[in-house]
Amino acid sequence: MLYKEKLLSMAKEASYNAYSPYSGFCVGTALLTKNGKIYTGCNVENHGIQSICGERVAFTKAFSEGEPSDNRDNYVAIMVVGHNRGSDKFGRTLPCGYCRQFMFEFVNPDFKILTCEGDEIQEYTLQQLLPLGFEF
Ligand code: ZN
Repeated sequence: MLYKEKLLSMAKEASYNAYSPYSGFCVGTALLTKNGKIYTGCNVENHGIQSICGERVAFTKAFSEGEPSDNRDNYVAIMVVGHNRGSDKFGRTLPCGYCRQFMFEFVNPDFKILTCEGDEIQEYTLQQLLPLGFEF
């Protein structure tokens, strides 16, 4: 389970790069690929409605650096953590509906979504969080 600890540590670190002046909520993510590469992300808010969540930052960063967008087997897990700005207390943070649907297109149903409550790591699958995603 060492990889989960590594993802937790990297996601927490990434959360401190969040740009979230409107919500004050800082999210960090760490996406693990099959070959062991890790891509981090953080939320980037905007005055308008175009805020970007940390999950989508991690995936788009991976794609932009050459990871395949057409191989669901390539993606193993993503750690998602969050805390209020100014606090180091991490509470359970799960992907928003938009991100669940976004990931649905690029991963398998058993893709792991990890989060933490304090130091305790919790584990879900995308199938659990989005049992019937949209597709056509
Ligand atoms: Zn989201």
